[in-house]
Amino acid sequence: MREIYLDHAATTPVEPRVLEKMLPYFGETFGNPSSLHGYGRAGARALDGARDAVAAYIGAAPAEVYFTSGGTEADNWAVRGCAHALAEKGRHIVIGASEHHAVLAAADILRAEGFSVSFAPVNGEGVTDLAALERAFRPDTVLAAVMTANNETGVLQPVRRIADLCHARGILFFTDAVQAAGALSVDVKDSGADMLSLSAHKFYGPKGSGALYVRAGLKLHKLIAGGQQERGMRGGTDNVPGAVGMAEALRLACAERAQNAAYVSRLRDRFEERVLRGVENVLVNGGGAARLPSVSNLSFEGVDGEQLLYALDLQGVAASAGAACASGSVEPSHVLAAMGMPAARARGGVRFSFGKDNAAEEADAAADIVKECVEGLRRARRA
Ligand code: PLP
Repeated sequence: MREIYLDHAATTPVEPRVLEKMLPYFGETFGNPSSLHGYGRAGARALDGARDAVAAYIGAAPAEVYFTSGGTEADNWAVRGCAHALAEKGRHIVIGASEHHAVLAAADILRAEGFSVSFAPVNGEGVTDLAALERAFRPDTVLAAVMTANNETGVLQPVRRIADLCHARGILFFTDAVQAAGALSVDVKDSGADMLSLSAHKFYGPKGSGALYVRAGLKLHKLIAGGQQERGMRGGTDNVPGAVGMAEALRLACAERAQNAAYVSRLRDRFEERVLRGVENVLVNGGGAARLPSVSNLSFEGVDGEQLLYALDLQGVAASAGAACASGSVEPSHVLAAMGMPAARARGGVRFSFGKDNAAEEADAAADIVKECVEGLRRARRA
């Protein structure tokens, strides 16, 4: 049976050119960058080079980039590290209602520690309501966190405008750019973010490798205590192959962005049009907003998202119900719920996310399989 992978928002395969760059750092150049001998110096040089490259691609200075174990750690560090650092000034933060669980769970910990957390609502298309965001600000608000692109719907947020609203009140702004990096140009100057998170496995780099940008002059509390790695801000032996892989993946993503984005959005649009033409009562979640080129989030009336995923999997189509980490549970998606959708539609959302390795025939074949599965499930429900 043919397998069609349409879950690139969950993770992407490591691009062979990235792997090639990484391999020496598992073998002959295996030194620990903290060691004082030649092996260590070679590792440190590789780490410095990767930091310089990542910084350049996001418009930052190398000293503003900290490597982490991925997006989850970077998100936790930004939210908790910033709130703790500013606790004397205020103990209130505002986060987007459709943030990733890495941000939501970090905010939950803060709440348990006595901080207050407010949510910035989104409209029916998943875009932050700026007036409501402003109303959520209080004199003791120190931080707002709103993602650049949503992982379930691909909907883009007006991050520059949010940054400006925050800065006008002396509030720091963090954006989770994990889904956006690679697909869109991510520049910390353009976005106005004080902190920004990245994760390599979303743009054909390795899993377990991420970064947090922290604007110069801003001092976060540590999340991971240990040795003096990352300029004393994050303990733990540096993941040299991971950092090298992320830098190369970001380099390729930037160099090939225009071409890949155009290709992937053609596939996504072709798939969406074919599904909408072939299947009745389908809704495109976030379809009216600016979206990532790769993502299509669809709800099929009367069809449970989880059941549809199983049916698709049996036919070789790999898709996802909302966030990968939430699948396996039948909870309605918090992202679709925040967009005001009734529980049935929020439970029915299925995310198809295309990648540069997909072929046009796969988009067509997947759309036909979706039609077959949806009609089968609807027939079974009526029987
Ligand atoms: N933030 C967003 C928007 C994501 O989509 C993800 C991954 O699904 C993460 C954070 C977590 O990143 P990682 O898988 O590197 O921990």
